Amino acid sequence: MAEKVVDLLCIGAGGAAYPAAFRLARAGHQVLMVDPKGVMSGNCLYEGCVPSKAVREMASLAGATRRFNAQLGLEEPRADYAAIVQHKDQVQERRYAQHAQELAAQPGIELRKGVAHILDPHTVQIDDDQGSEKIHCHHLLIASGSDVFVPPIPGAEHCLTSHDLYKPDSALRALPKRLIVVGGGYIGLETASFFAQLGSQVTLLQRGGQILNGMDPGMVALLQPLLPAGMRILTDVDVQRIEAQGALRRVVWQRAGQEESGEAEVVLLAVGRSPVIPEGCDAVGIEFDRHGIQVGPSLQTRYPHIYAAGDVNGRVPLFHAAVRQSLVAAHNILGGNQPLDYADFHTVPTTIFTLPAAAYIGMTPAKAEGRELAVGRYDFAEDSRAQILERLEGEIRLFFEPSSLRLLGGWIVGIDAGALIGQIGTALSLGATAYDLARFADQHPMSAEGIGKAARSLF
Ligand code: ADP
Repeated sequence: MAEKVVDLLCIGAGGAAYPAAFRLARAGHQVLMVDPKGVMSGNCLYEGCVPSKAVREMASLAGATRRFNAQLGLEEPRADYAAIVQHKDQVQERRYAQHAQELAAQPGIELRKGVAHILDPHTVQIDDDQGSEKIHCHHLLIASGSDVFVPPIPGAEHCLTSHDLYKPDSALRALPKRLIVVGGGYIGLETASFFAQLGSQVTLLQRGGQILNGMDPGMVALLQPLLPAGMRILTDVDVQRIEAQGALRRVVWQRAGQEESGEAEVVLLAVGRSPVIPEGCDAVGIEFDRHGIQVGPSLQTRYPHIYAAGDVNGRVPLFHAAVRQSLVAAHNILGGNQPLDYADFHTVPTTIFTLPAAAYIGMTPAKAEGRELAVGRYDFAEDSRAQILERLEGEIRLFFEPSSLRLLGGWIVGIDAGALIGQIGTALSLGATAYDLARFADQHPMSAEGIGKAARSLF
């Protein structure tokens, strides 16, 4: 029987896959996406960015309402976690429906529910409920993403992960009185801050000396004291085991040579994610290590027609980076596998959506390795919007090359961080200087005024 032939086969249908799929389909190519979820948008919508932010914004509104309940003449609000999860579910449903419509409206793309594995550099087998099918593909985009990493800690099975919390049929629908979070990366810290804001007593256990390991210690030191009250952060903790005692969980850890423990109704295990390497990569010689499939800025593997974009290459495991990488792969496929377009792995905005948030991009002092930076600063304490919202804490800090005052990077801790980093990122990608930023009429009374003011603080 003749094999089905496609121009592009995407392993996965997340942010690293579908932008390329649509671009190629619009250029007249036949595209097949394969994903065991059978729907578009990957883990971002299923258990990641979108559902976690749906919970975050509800927690944030509950906090704001509590802050202003006297002015608004409201009773002390009691956040109903089941209703928050219902809101999250509705957002997911709505976006899945939207993506289904987008897919139906685009000729040339088929989405198959199944698991792909690579047989040879041009042949992929798809396994689904009906059986197996071999597909011949002119180009292959590996976009299989990443999965929650579960470490071999005894009792790990008694914990929930971000998958359990944020997936459509969420395993947690009542606010726990106490929550222990194992892991102080951005997923653990964000979730810890939402639950603390909603009223849980939260203990966060971090293995190293700093939460948000790998991020600029200066930014982290600004953020940490601003996190919600009711959040206890312990560092240099080595978790030994998790025990189940009926509905309760007991976490035992070592700290400074002492054994300590804590009890909670829920333990969240958030110690990282690992790339999902499709079966067959090894056999055909696609190079990968524990961080992901090896690619350069063109997103090509050692086979010029095989690309690996998004979380699976481990370069910048964020949805928006995956989307950009997907488009780079599409452009290079359309260019006949000549590397015509490149991903910039260094200039990608990153937001830690804690309450409050912190965000950064590009060069910050910890990355400058002794290189001098000119620093422009703006405190939210003097900001009109921050005063209106009574969120005076935090700042905007911009980093410039001293002689030219070319913008190299920046961070924001506090209100609107996730939005402001986009504006700073746009300026950065356009090669703006402090003079350019200083000349721009940022809108009043919005927090973006602080960007121009931070630049003008240098003159
Ligand atoms: P990214 O943002 O890099 O696209 P995601 O993790 O959001 O990453 O999406 C990756 C998708 O790939 C997930 O929906 C996952 O189910 C899917 N996937 C993982 N392994 C395979 C495989 N072998 N075959 C098909 N799809 C896969």
